[in-house]
Amino acid sequence: MARGWLQSRATGRRPLRWLLPFALVLWAGSGVSASPGGQGRPLAATEVNLRPPPGLRSRSLGAAHRGTLVNGMKVRESAYLRYVGEYARGGNFYGTWELVQLLERAARRVAFRLPGAKLSIGELSAQDGGRLDGHRSHRSGRDADIGFYLTLPDGRPYYTHSFADMDGRGRGMAPNGYLRFDDARNWELVAKLVTDGEARVQYIFVSEPLKARILREGEKRGAHRQVLERVRAVLVEPNHGHPHQNHFHVRIYCAPADRGRCEDRPPYWPWYPGSPPGGVYSTLSRP
Ligand SMILES: [Zn+2]
Repeated sequence: MARGWLQSRATGRRPLRWLLPFALVLWAGSGVSASPGGQGRPLAATEVNLRPPPGLRSRSLGAAHRGTLVNGMKVRESAYLRYVGEYARGGNFYGTWELVQLLERAARRVAFRLPGAKLSIGELSAQDGGRLDGHRSHRSGRDADIGFYLTLPDGRPYYTHSFADMDGRGRGMAPNGYLRFDDARNWELVAKLVTDGEARVQYIFVSEPLKARILREGEKRGAHRQVLERVRAVLVEPNHGHPHQNHFHVRIYCAPADRGRCEDRPPYWPWYPGSPPGGVYSTLSRP
């Protein structure tokens, strides 16, 4: 799209050569490569997680809490993304390629807007999906746990070996009182996740006080009303089980190509891809 616009404008009086560097940056960031990736040469840092292995078509089968995953793609550590140490050895970093690409795109977006920190990845699914210790869902490649962006009191990004509990004031709970919830980066992350045009996010579980912080940050930054509306709808503290005060849990809807064997459950937000089962969208509550 950027290229078409450049060409059509270039037929005018001025060739707009100054746009070229920006167009190239966009093109490089899109993960498109002039030569085939994953075929005999290692992937460049800019391609990691954006390029499924050749011929791979991942499939999410069944529901998130009792399904499986076929041809799951593994999230790899990249220039923008790291594994949370506690989960590195387990290796449960498999998802549909829609989910893996979403995480990479979101991590990049945060790194471009607020350079200096990587996205912290907890568990997704096992290679073939199915039951995963410590999780009720995470079975069909459409769920991911993501650590919060954290800083030290002086604002420097900080990474922990495990997810760290945060209170409503955005401070680490004992024994991690020195940690701070990075409002700006966590806002950028969430804003990207809920507005991604490819993978559509249904839920992001997080505690209510942290949700409130994130929304305040978005308002402070003058975020568009529709983005705030989405964040308000998607971010939710589960009414049973883990309150999610130490990580986000992200779930995406089934990819349209997986429909039929992949099962979504309500709510079906207006950005649900295609028509929802029963044809009825859930309504967003207005602030
Ligand atoms: Zn989870």
